[in-house]
Amino acid sequence: MPNYVIAPPPVAAVPVQGSDSLFPVRRIFCVGRNYAEHAIEMGSDPTREPPFYFTKPADALVVGGADTPYPTKTKDLHHEMELVVAIGVGGSNIPVAEALKHVWGYCAGLDMTRRDLQGEAKKTGRPWDMGKAFDHSAPMGAIMPAGGFDPSKGRIELKVNGVVRQSSDLSKLIWSVPEVIANLSELVELAPGDLIMTGTPENVAAVVRGDLLEGHVEGVGTVVTRIV
Ligand code: MN
Repeated sequence: MPNYVIAPPPVAAVPVQGSDSLFPVRRIFCVGRNYAEHAIEMGSDPTREPPFYFTKPADALVVGGADTPYPTKTKDLHHEMELVVAIGVGGSNIPVAEALKHVWGYCAGLDMTRRDLQGEAKKTGRPWDMGKAFDHSAPMGAIMPAGGFDPSKGRIELKVNGVVRQSSDLSKLIWSVPEVIANLSELVELAPGDLIMTGTPENVAAVVRGDLLEGHVEGVGTVVTRIV
């Protein structure tokens, strides 16, 4: 045991479905603008620009259906409902055809966003971090072991207070899950424990304290959290 000068931070983790096991989390990568209709609503051209990425710290996770505290310094907290990929086997320069062999499992997740701070950062050419990578910005449901799951199709949906807010299909991802893994692995060496949030479909919108968010990805599972 090394002689740490302060207590080492706890390992961030996501529960695994149907067991009391945990998936330990190393990094959280997020893909920007990966559904055409969302790119359009954000004022971008949805042609197939190369994927781009931002990150959240592992300890931004909110798991087990826990509440999500409304963050400070924003008046425009948005939901972004996403499929999350959990990497079990790392690698660099992973070929598209091999990419799904690196996946341990999948879960439903929310890329919570301080849209006003992100917008200000875009305008001024500054980093997105305080718009995207704040505390409690990554609620996630339990991880489903990959098995033979095919992430090329399946409904992705978010209800707020029981009313459908976002509804789309994984088949509408501009960059597919294997393509994202392959591309990201050219930029960084992926490692076991990395999570990849694959982007949100259209109809992102603001939430307020008291709202109940219930997300579902067909064949994967749910994410549930209340904004408090
Ligand atoms: Mn997102």
